[in-house]
Amino acid sequence: MQIGFIGLGNMGGPMAANLVAAGHTVKGFDVAGTSTAGVSVAASAAEDATGVDVLITMLPNGSILRSVADQVIPAMSKGAVLLDCSTVDVESARAVADQCTAAGVLALDAPVSGGIGGASGGTLTFMVGGEEAGFNKALPLFEIMGQKAVHCGASGNGQAAKICNNMILGVTMIATCESFALADKLGLDRQKMFDVVSTSSGYSWSMNAYCPAPGVGPTSPADNDYKPGFAADLMLKDLRLAQQAASGADADTPMGALAQALYEQFVENEDGAGRDFSAMLPRFEQRSRS
Ligand code: NAD
Repeated sequence: MQIGFIGLGNMGGPMAANLVAAGHTVKGFDVAGTSTAGVSVAASAAEDATGVDVLITMLPNGSILRSVADQVIPAMSKGAVLLDCSTVDVESARAVADQCTAAGVLALDAPVSGGIGGASGGTLTFMVGGEEAGFNKALPLFEIMGQKAVHCGASGNGQAAKICNNMILGVTMIATCESFALADKLGLDRQKMFDVVSTSSGYSWSMNAYCPAPGVGPTSPADNDYKPGFAADLMLKDLRLAQQAASGADADTPMGALAQALYEQFVENEDGAGRDFSAMLPRFEQRSRS
């Protein structure tokens, strides 16, 4: 397949490299001039989009996606797929999909879970919105870049799945961290706390697979001085997208709103920027009730 790739950053670079390693021809474009081994360099986004079967974008946010879409959609062939893997707001994903439909281009919103490790290892999970025909065309690429692709329905549903998942993740991580901090103050050993909760009804991915307490449970960023992993800044981004979507859909999401407020405080006013999102535990440890 002829593939174009726009946004060769922390995630896009290794994803493009995996496509090259699997034998695809990939040309790339990044405003920062970033290059990836084996990926030929296009002079502009429009040039990158010309003549490709699938154009993949991996960009920071919805407004950048919209501006790139304006440049690339007119250059794309009819029947080609615009596969956006960025995490963006549902509204932008649906607006870009409408633009694609009007131009005869198939649009997919396919945000990922799995982070930089998953991008390098080709083990990402893709949550995909858009037409079946586009999904089927992109499936061989999902199989190279990831281990699972779930077709979630119409355009925007991939982004919807991603922010709902990450809202649960943010809320459960906070609940897990504040419970550990409470257990400390009650004199309960952290290992005992883990042994009980990880096999009781309080278990979750945050506790069982990504335990925020150093030296307890499987190895996680807590065991590496809370270096990300999944940065608190990215969790904040996703929680803001969830609240934006909830507000647009008139959904009542009080726990998600509180999680957003706590991560905002952590990232913007405390020492959370650049730390793993599980560093909420040392934050709670240092605090008292008032
Ligand atoms: P990044 O900042 O490392 O990469 C984004 C790239 O896009 C940069 O290289 C930048 O120069 C390029 N770019 C920006 N504007 C552009 C434009 N107009 N044209 C061409 N290139 C442009 O970010 P990342 O960590 O690779 O994340 C990319 C997306 O993946 C984000 O939406 C993020 O939320 C999502 N995501 C990231 C992770 C993670 O762990 N890093 C995990 C899941 C999802």
